[in-house]
Amino acid sequence: MAKYDYDLITIGAGSGGVRASRLSGKYGAKVAVVENSRVGGTCVMRGCVPKKLLVFGAHFAAHFEDAVGYGWTVDEATHDWGAMIAAKDKELDRLQGVYNRMLRDANVEVIAGRGVLGDAHTVEVNGKRLTAEKILISTGGWPVVPDFPGKEHVITSNEALDLKERPKRIVIFGGGFIAVEFAGIFAALGSEVHIVIRAGQILRGFDEDVRATLASELEKQHIKILRDSTIRSVEPCADGSYSVMLNMGEEIKADKVMFATGRAPNTANLGLEAAGVKLNARNAVAVDADSRSSVENIFAIGDVTDRINLTPVAINEGRCFAETFFNNNPMQMDHANVPSAVFTHPPVSVVGLTEEQARKKHKVRIFISRFKPMVHTLSGRDERTMMKLIVDKATDKVLGCHMVGEDAPEIIQGLAVAIKCGATKAQFDSTVGIHPTAAEEFVTMRDALPDKEPATKEM
Ligand code: NDP
Repeated sequence: MAKYDYDLITIGAGSGGVRASRLSGKYGAKVAVVENSRVGGTCVMRGCVPKKLLVFGAHFAAHFEDAVGYGWTVDEATHDWGAMIAAKDKELDRLQGVYNRMLRDANVEVIAGRGVLGDAHTVEVNGKRLTAEKILISTGGWPVVPDFPGKEHVITSNEALDLKERPKRIVIFGGGFIAVEFAGIFAALGSEVHIVIRAGQILRGFDEDVRATLASELEKQHIKILRDSTIRSVEPCADGSYSVMLNMGEEIKADKVMFATGRAPNTANLGLEAAGVKLNARNAVAVDADSRSSVENIFAIGDVTDRINLTPVAINEGRCFAETFFNNNPMQMDHANVPSAVFTHPPVSVVGLTEEQARKKHKVRIFISRFKPMVHTLSGRDERTMMKLIVDKATDKVLGCHMVGEDAPEIIQGLAVAIKCGATKAQFDSTVGIHPTAAEEFVTMRDALPDKEPATKEM
């Protein structure tokens, strides 16, 4: 008789949990995954996937305008928000089916319900006690809304993806990934958008040239960025709208108020303390390089560990876990040089160090190129692309690649391989460009900026 009901119980069927469970099942482990919502988790059901579908939908507005410069006559284009949301929901239903099938094919049992740790080897779900040799916590994160008067009236990205109607006026509080992506979606579809940020600039943590370039592009799209501001209160008005009061006493009227003020790990009421699992200062499960918690047989991956909160990172952590513990193939996730993207119009994508981070440890050479993308020479759109390379003076290694511009995520994904391999600027320079593309700029930037000067090469 086996000592436990399962070799592995995973709590949370998001991207990381599903990957770890499927692979472990494939390698012969007896696996159950417990999920209290839809299989697929944040990325597939409430995040990356539905958001990107809405980004695609919104971007057609610019395509229709740009086509005119190329000789097209575009009759007044209209958009049906409800139709887009319905199409998105249909796709999410399809994906849920795909995810369930993939788990079934890997012999993973899916248990609907909320899993809570009873002890280090026991998960209680639906009144039953299930035991496992190993337990994997992959419960993700959830939006955080700070306390303030009127908190009950605001939405987060969860609700923004399911709105019945597009708000004509929306105020978005926060200036991170989620805030700017949703601002772009609503603005492209015609909403009046205010972004309210407590800091002086959007996208904290990104390279300063990226932050400034994106802010300028968003402002060209009539997105108003209110800097050094906070929301003091949100009050409902008789006509169904809201009155948003800012700290300096200004009032903004809006049909929806969205908070995108960060996400917190889902660690509450999971029985973690009872099982002896230690949390860190940010209430995330503290783990080592093998994703092992303070309890020897309990592991955690993805946003619940608050390392790098991105889907592909969670998936890789899940893969390393399954390979190490169920395929006798020890692997550890390398969290260095993880590329990422912000799906605004134009999008942002980056890999490696920001200039500020690089200067702390290295003497650097900085290459920047700013130009009008070729497509907009005829469309007439006032949009600029910015590309930046940060190079270590001592080794010639490219430490960071940053881009704000059309197709940036598609371009940076390829460059991320080069950065991961430790490519030098000389190797970038010896790579032949593909002409005419924007991407070729990355291999044709010849002149470094004068030391420490923020000036840029204009094209
Ligand atoms: P971020 O951490 O990116 O940004 C949070 C924003 O909210 C910041 O502008 C921050 O301001 C502000 N903020 C935080 N707390 C407060 C507060 N108490 N009062 C006022 N402002 C506040 O969080 P998001 O919610 O945008 O995204 C969460 C995570 O989801 C991201 O970190 C990312 O990992 C992931 N994500 C990734 C995406 C992608 O890869 N494309 C897309 C969406 C999400 P300040 O700058 O002043 O600190």
